[in-house]
Amino acid sequence: MEDHAAGVAARRVFDRCAELGFALSGVASAETIEHHRELIAWLEAGRHGQMEYLESHLAQRIDPRKKLLGAQSVICVADRYAASEPEMQAPRGRTGRIARYARGDDYHRVMKRRLHELCDALACEFNGHEFVACVDTAPVLEREHARRAGLGYVGKNTMLIEPGVGSYLLLGEIITTLPLETNSQPYDDHCGSCTRCLDACPTGALTPWSLDATECISYHTIELRGLIDERWHAGIGDWIFGCDVCQEVCPHNGDTPRTLAAPVHEAYRPRRGGFDLLEILNWSQDDRLAAFTRSAMKRAKLWMMKRNALIAAGNYLVRRRDPDLLNRIAQLAADAAEHEVVRETARQVLQKLKSSSREEHDDAPRSG
Ligand code: SF4
Ligand code: SF4
Repeated sequence: MEDHAAGVAARRVFDRCAELGFALSGVASAETIEHHRELIAWLEAGRHGQMEYLESHLAQRIDPRKKLLGAQSVICVADRYAASEPEMQAPRGRTGRIARYARGDDYHRVMKRRLHELCDALACEFNGHEFVACVDTAPVLEREHARRAGLGYVGKNTMLIEPGVGSYLLLGEIITTLPLETNSQPYDDHCGSCTRCLDACPTGALTPWSLDATECISYHTIELRGLIDERWHAGIGDWIFGCDVCQEVCPHNGDTPRTLAAPVHEAYRPRRGGFDLLEILNWSQDDRLAAFTRSAMKRAKLWMMKRNALIAAGNYLVRRRDPDLLNRIAQLAADAAEHEVVRETARQVLQKLKSSSREEHDDAPRSG
C-alpha cells in the first residue's frame, strides 16, 4: 500500500514538473552518493583549484539527509538551455565567445523561481512534509542524483547526458521527506568507444569520466580569481566566459526526434553569443552591469572579463592586424589605475605578440 502511495505521489510530482516546463524530471532516493570516495580523492588531489566551496559542507554534499533531516527522496529536474547547431552558430571575427548556458537569462533565477513554486504546491498537497529547493549553489551533488534519478548517464566529458536529448541541461533538485517511487532503471553508458570530447578539449583537461578543473577553460575564465598561467592562453582561443567544446563535439547533442520534443526553455533563448573584445577592454563598471543584466555572467568581475578578453585578443592578433585593439592592450599594460591582473595579462599578451612576430620575421625567406 505504501509503495502504491509513493507511486501515486511520484506521478503527481512529474505532472507538476511538466506543468512548470521542466524538460526532464525523476526521483532518486535520499542516500549517500555512490562515488563519494572518488569525490574526496579528487578534492585531495587539488583538482578543484580555487573552488574551495566544494570542500565545505562535504557531509551534506555526500548525503542529502545531512541537509534535511529525515529526507527520503530527491526530486531531480532539468531545463534544456540550448539546441543543436546551427541555431547557436558561434560568433566570429573580433568576438569573444560565451558558453551557451550564459547566453540567456540567469538559470539560477529561472529555475529557483519554479522550484519554489513546486515546493509550495507540493507542501499544500502533501501536508506535513518538508521540501528544500537547490540550484547549483547548494552543497548537493546534482549530477549524481540526476543520474540515479534516471535523467541521463555521466559521459566521458563528465556531463550528464540524456542520450536522446543531449547534455545542454541545467539541473535543480528538491530534497524532501516525502517518500516517492524512485526510477529503478538508470541509463547504461552510451559513450562506447567514442573519445571525441577527450580529443577535442583544447587544454587536455579531460581523462575519461574525470576533469582536472585547474586545466579547464571554464574554470580559468569563470572561477579563477588571479592571473591565468600563460601555458593556457593559446588553448583558450576566443572563449571569454566558459567553454562548450566538449559538448559541441558530442554526438548526443545533435538533433533527434526527442530533442525536438524537449524544447529549450524560453528564458534561455540566446540574447547574444559573445562580445566585441575591444568593447570589453573599454568597459567601465556600469557598462559591465548593463551588459550582464539578468545574466549568469555576473559571476565574472570587471577585471576578470578584461583579463579574459585580453587573452582572446592576443589569440586574435596572432592571426589578424587590428591597430585599435593592439593600442588598447598597450594602454592597459601601462595604466597604473587598472587591476594588477589586467595590467600583467596585457604585458604577457604584448610580449607573446612581439615574440611571435619576431619568429615570423625569422622564418621569412631572405633575399640577397
Ligand atoms: S569545458 Fe572546454 S576546456 Fe573544459 S573540459 Fe570541456 S573542452 Fe576542455
Ligand atoms: S563526445 Fe563521445 S565520449 Fe565524449 S561524452 Fe559524448 S559520447 Fe561520450
